[in-house]
Amino acid sequence: MDVTVNEQAQLPEVAVFSLGGTIASTNTGEAAPSGGVTPRLGARELVDAVPQLSEVARVQTVAFRQVASGDLTFADLVALAEEIDATFDSGVAGVVVTQGTDTIEETSFALDLLVRGPRPVVVTGAMRNPTLAGPDGPANLLAAVQVAAAPQAAGMGALVAFNDEIHAARFVRKTHTSSPATFRSETAGTIGWVVEGRVRIAFQVTPLPFRASGVRGENVPPVALLGSALGDDARLIEQVRAVGYEGLVLQGFGGGHVPAHVVPALEKLATEIPVVLASRTGAGEALTGTYGFPGSERDLLSRGLIPGGFLSGPKARVLLSLALADGGPDAARAAFDQVSAVG
Ligand code: ASP
Repeated sequence: MDVTVNEQAQLPEVAVFSLGGTIASTNTGEAAPSGGVTPRLGARELVDAVPQLSEVARVQTVAFRQVASGDLTFADLVALAEEIDATFDSGVAGVVVTQGTDTIEETSFALDLLVRGPRPVVVTGAMRNPTLAGPDGPANLLAAVQVAAAPQAAGMGALVAFNDEIHAARFVRKTHTSSPATFRSETAGTIGWVVEGRVRIAFQVTPLPFRASGVRGENVPPVALLGSALGDDARLIEQVRAVGYEGLVLQGFGGGHVPAHVVPALEKLATEIPVVLASRTGAGEALTGTYGFPGSERDLLSRGLIPGGFLSGPKARVLLSLALADGGPDAARAAFDQVSAVG
């Protein structure tokens, strides 16, 4: 379908911010020392490669960063959220962020907590870079712009559009190293999809009641993320405070459990810094009221740990980091109470 100049003028405006990642990665120009593709394309080039976008929205572009997504920082995200807020103030209907998939589950949730809303912020990327057969970046970008331009996508916080599915940032996780169907929301399911250009929202999610409105990028304190493993002891937990962390998210076994001999170190640490209890399983809520054995969730919560609710370990770390930056340790517990009550 060709769109006339008059029809174009009626289309919603969407801003695309590029941050790098596979969607932007090629091997043109100077070779990387290790060989392989590296992030080189900016938002304008990504948009120009998808002519169908001109039928969906008037697209403006911002080349914001050009990195592998593991190199993004909280300072980048706070700066990005400020630019997105300013872009919304200028009247755009929605924003798309393109970036590496490795950290989308964290960055999208950080934007959920940082951006003022209610207009949609839709994060996307690609699993197959543009030099491979069947790159998924162009289709993901088109779907993301369609979602960002859709009024029904507003009011649900940050979203992830990928492989024609729509996910709420608070639930979505990267679950596969190479499949284009890597993003899944096992706890709640996808909230919608895109088909033939139509945006379907099947399940509404409630906006998060907590927003980290006072955060400055350089003020986000270091928060550790640790797992639990069979036969492990407490030697890392005992070092957390000493090496300067100001919070800990512990991914316990199952519903939120640790070996009994780890409990004293966790109890001591929880008197010094906020310690959040999440699960290493990757889906479902950390329990709060079932088991009573030493090292169980009831035992750990009674010793001062904070229940992580439905948040995965990496997402709980994002919330703890931003809540600490926003209001200090007391605000952290309140933020978890607020977010986990919403679902
Ligand atoms: N493998 C990554 C991606 O999918 C690289 C990154 O996260 O930057 O984009």
